[in-house]
Amino acid sequence: MITRKTKIVATLGPATSSKEILTGIIEAGVNVCRVNFSHGTYDDHAKTIQLIREISKERGIHTAILADLQGPKIRVGKVENNGVLLEKGKEIIFTSQECTGNADKVYISYQNFPQDVYAGETILLDDGKLVLTIKSTNKVDEVVAIVEHGGILSSNKGVNLPNTKISLPSLTTKDIEDLNFALSMNVSWIGLSFVRTARDIIELKHLIAEKKSSAKVIAKIEKPEAIREIDDILNVTDAIMVARGDLGVEVPFHEVPLIQKMLVKKSLKAAKPVIIATQMMESMIENITPTRAEVNDVANAVLDGADAVMLSAETSVGKHPIKVIESMSSIISDVEQHESVYNYEYPPEEDNHDRFITDSICFNSCRLAQRVGAKAIVTMTFSGYTAFKLASFRPKSGIFVFTGNEAILNLMSLVWGVKAFYYDKYVSTDHTIADIKYILKKEGYIKVKDLVVNIASMPITEKGQTNMMKLSYTE
Ligand code: PEP
Repeated sequence: MITRKTKIVATLGPATSSKEILTGIIEAGVNVCRVNFSHGTYDDHAKTIQLIREISKERGIHTAILADLQGPKIRVGKVENNGVLLEKGKEIIFTSQECTGNADKVYISYQNFPQDVYAGETILLDDGKLVLTIKSTNKVDEVVAIVEHGGILSSNKGVNLPNTKISLPSLTTKDIEDLNFALSMNVSWIGLSFVRTARDIIELKHLIAEKKSSAKVIAKIEKPEAIREIDDILNVTDAIMVARGDLGVEVPFHEVPLIQKMLVKKSLKAAKPVIIATQMMESMIENITPTRAEVNDVANAVLDGADAVMLSAETSVGKHPIKVIESMSSIISDVEQHESVYNYEYPPEEDNHDRFITDSICFNSCRLAQRVGAKAIVTMTFSGYTAFKLASFRPKSGIFVFTGNEAILNLMSLVWGVKAFYYDKYVSTDHTIADIKYILKKEGYIKVKDLVVNIASMPITEKGQTNMMKLSYTE
């Protein structure tokens, strides 16, 4: 039985496409499988999602699926010989007219680029490996730039424009098609790349609601605009991802550690899950052990208070996908021995009248659990709200969520410390509490004489605000 609190998100790809390897990574501790819509076909994604469901069902576990939409990612087009040398000091034209590029001219997949940019702004290519400064624009279809730091530019490399106010829509035509496919596959989480404002999330949620889906949204934070607007974004999103790959290109890389800490702190206060992503175990794409710096990076993400840590190329194309999950899992388990991982205190805001009673019960049930050393905090929830809230206080006791809402069973797999069960009997509060304790005891999560804190809404049949807390021994 895995008792680790911090969850693991693994990006899927060719290295994890067989049932054998998928089973291996899920058994090693993957809680959320990330399907990256920047790569692969719908056929591939559908097969993988089917396999994850099969494996999870066979093992009686809940694995969430995160569909990650590419968002307004800008790329250069194809270049001659699949690579051209951009030399320091030379000029190069970026054109919005499709062509095969060379050292003098390359295509950029952003129609309004010449209209949106100004001289002096920076162009970063291939994750910032090549740096250029804009010299001029004809405001129609061509931009001239000077190479500041050169190197080989290969086909389809990503473009980052850290100083430009980009006018591309937050959801491209491709994203909307990918979203519709993902919703038809009933995924739990939708990630949106390059979020700039809260409006991007509102628009995505609107599309999800139109399809009558209960999928929840992860705002990928990787643009300076999103950092500036983080409070508004956190208000409307369901979770965030610290997407350190692009973030470390869009803002100076040395600013990323403190931004990570700030984002985790704000997410915890807002009771919204936060994922730390990218290059966590990068060297394990090739090697069978991580570097000591990577071990520390994972450990620090856990100590910062992340809900989940994410793997990208390590599991999608890496050589040792199972080993990387085992290694990450063992780092997390060791760090979670430390007391500083637990018991955060954010007393509920008194002016939040809609949720004040629920928030107060969640907050105080965690305090009570800490004071008496309770083994479990149990909540009955339909929307999942109390589970998110309880988790945000990081109690040492297990958080057990019982729900009659099938849609949130997998969803909960991303949330720190939460284990979810399907339960749809509503006889009476006393009966439900006794029944749930019986289930937890039978499954080995609690034993006789363990203290358990139950929270629920009374009367239980009304499924209203959580307004009751009970402390009892297990018989
Ligand atoms: C990132 O940039 O860190 C990230 C997670 O985004 P992607 O892998 O989609 O480029």
